Amino acid sequence: MIIRSMRIGTRLTVAFSALLLLMLIVSFVLIGGMQRMRTITQDIVNVQVSRVSMAQVADSHAQTAANQLLLLLQIDKREERIPLYATMDAELLELDRTVGQIGATLMSHEAHDQFARLTQARALYDELFHETVETIELNGVESARAHFRSKTRAALTGLLQETATMSEQQQQGMQANLEQFKQAEESGRYFIVALITSSLVLGTMLAWFITRSIVTPLKESVAVAENIAQGNLAQTIPLSQSDEMGQLLNSLGLMRDSIVQREDKILKLAYQDTLTSLPNRTHFLESLTEKIAGQSGMVAVLDINRFSLINNALGHAVGDRLLQEVARRLSECDPRPSEMARLWGDKFAFFMMGVSKDRTEQLARTILACLQEPIVLFEQKLDVAGSLGIALFPQDGEDPSSLLRRAEMASRYAKRRHQTVAYAANAGAEPQPDQLSLIGEMRNALKNNEFVVYYQPKLHFATGAISAAEALIRWQHPQRGLIPPFKFIPFAEQTGFIREITPWLIANVIAQAAEWQRRGLDIVPSVNLSTLDLLDRGLVDYVCGMLKQHGVAPNKICLEITESALMEEPELALKHLNELAAKGIKLSIDDYGSGQASLAYLKTLPVNELKIDREFVTAVSSEVKNAAIVRSTIVLCHELGLTVVAEGAETQEELAWLKSNQCDIVQGYGIAKPMPVAQFLAWVGERDLSAERSSNMPG
Ligand code: C2E
Ligand code: CA
Ligand code: CA
Repeated sequence: MIIRSMRIGTRLTVAFSALLLLMLIVSFVLIGGMQRMRTITQDIVNVQVSRVSMAQVADSHAQTAANQLLLLLQIDKREERIPLYATMDAELLELDRTVGQIGATLMSHEAHDQFARLTQARALYDELFHETVETIELNGVESARAHFRSKTRAALTGLLQETATMSEQQQQGMQANLEQFKQAEESGRYFIVALITSSLVLGTMLAWFITRSIVTPLKESVAVAENIAQGNLAQTIPLSQSDEMGQLLNSLGLMRDSIVQREDKILKLAYQDTLTSLPNRTHFLESLTEKIAGQSGMVAVLDINRFSLINNALGHAVGDRLLQEVARRLSECDPRPSEMARLWGDKFAFFMMGVSKDRTEQLARTILACLQEPIVLFEQKLDVAGSLGIALFPQDGEDPSSLLRRAEMASRYAKRRHQTVAYAANAGAEPQPDQLSLIGEMRNALKNNEFVVYYQPKLHFATGAISAAEALIRWQHPQRGLIPPFKFIPFAEQTGFIREITPWLIANVIAQAAEWQRRGLDIVPSVNLSTLDLLDRGLVDYVCGMLKQHGVAPNKICLEITESALMEEPELALKHLNELAAKGIKLSIDDYGSGQASLAYLKTLPVNELKIDREFVTAVSSEVKNAAIVRSTIVLCHELGLTVVAEGAETQEELAWLKSNQCDIVQGYGIAKPMPVAQFLAWVGERDLSAERSSNMPG
């Protein structure tokens, strides 16, 4: 803990200093030991050894002097004894000098005692020796020998004993010193080994503690960083340390917090609609995915009617405020759906789990009721209404995105039919897997020129001539063969790809009209327009540009529009229709009768022609109800100045009935099926020829 409270830098400095100190102590101890050893060795070599040898020298001098005295006692003639006196004196002098030297170096108490005994023995011997020598000279050898035997011999033996003891003592002393040295050296060795071992242990422990004090928090930091990297942001970060690791952990904590903040922000951006603060499409789909498994319930999409009109007319600021207000009202509706989102633009989505059909209807009413009161913005009262599309699960699908798509389709369906609510089950099917692959291939089909235009003739009853022809697209698929339009046009409309198909078709058909004009054929081709085409702001200019480019008069082309195409955004659609009509382009209402539009409404449109849907034309000659509808439609259209086209007449009876009921034009298998252009032209040529032949026939 104390270690951890230090900064890592301090910790390392302290640790290295401690290790260095240990090394220094060990070195000093080693040097000291070696120094002591050297002193002892020197002492042994310089003092002890010389003392031993001096004791030995003294001993040998004493012995030589003793031998010479014994020799002297053997010599009778005086003149023969004289030279021996000199050598004897010299030996004794040497003995005295050596003893004196030994005495000067002696240190121990014991040695001093021994030395005192030696000098005493030497003095005694000296005295008796001189007495012996005097006796020789005065009384002769015999009495000297007797004196020697009685007195001097004992003193000599004493002296020799003392010198020998001295020498032995010195040797023993040296031996003892050597022994001591050996012991000192041994214990010194143990001490040094112990010192080095303990320094090693101490150093290792220190290193271990220091390393651990760094590695453990480092590991903690790594774990924290890894956790952050793995997105585990809820972890607690240990923040107790005050060292660099503490700072690192602190920084990691700050980093984690800012990641959390940013993640929150990103999540908000990714999952929330910024305008209304409602969840967005992604969030909606994720919530639905979480809850849908094995459940029943409903998904609804609300489309605000006339929103783009308000947006365009009053500006985007008003549009935004309107959406915010709608979002606020929807959030307050009771009962409130489990989840609510703004998908995009003016589309809101809801889902609710485990609801019955009754409850679904109640919820639909509640949602729509939110929009009943006009919304007041910038002192303007705005009436808004919505079209609600409802998909039920599991009946309409179990996959959240396809359910949402189906609910969107249903809301479009409701809008087109001017209904407030529509169920997905009634609003058309979802593309099948093989159709999905077709959708993907459509783009290439246009590039590869796989689309072909067929023409179906329209017969003018009054003149018996083919006055017009409807251009109907087909897809010559390299693998699947000829694909009819109902298999891809609805999806081209859903995906918006129709915006590319229609211009191609218009260009193709106008070029064809120019060609027919050159051949002298007075046939007006018609092109089918989809909702998206009609709402396309570039449509009018494009058609006019093509007509101009090919030198075709505007009234030599007809555009067929279904009433449902007019319902999506009636104002814009009507604006475009008026512009097209102003240019002189012919307009035709297609599939009349299949929708809800009344003739009174159609009267307000700048159209020239009305095509009665095949549904009513089929069996017109036998079905009383169909006959009544078609007949009255023909009458009313004529009153309104519209040309009537009956679609889908197959039998001669139907054709005859239509002709006799003043229908202007007929189109159907009863005349001819749609044909590729070459075949169509050949068919027209053949028909004209036989008409000519029959008129030329006599009779
Ligand atoms: P539509 O505009 O109502 O076209 C008439 C459809 O009725 C054609 O089908 C035609 O072949 C068929 N038909 C005509 N007479 C008879 C008949 O006597 N009996 C029967 N059973 N059917 C008859 P087709 O060509 O399959 O086109 C179907 C629909 O596809 C068209 O209905 C139109 O809505 C759409 N469509 C075709 N071509 C185009 C196009 O180029 N652009 C657009 N936007 N839609 C197209
Ligand atoms: Ca048509
Ligand atoms: Ca039609």
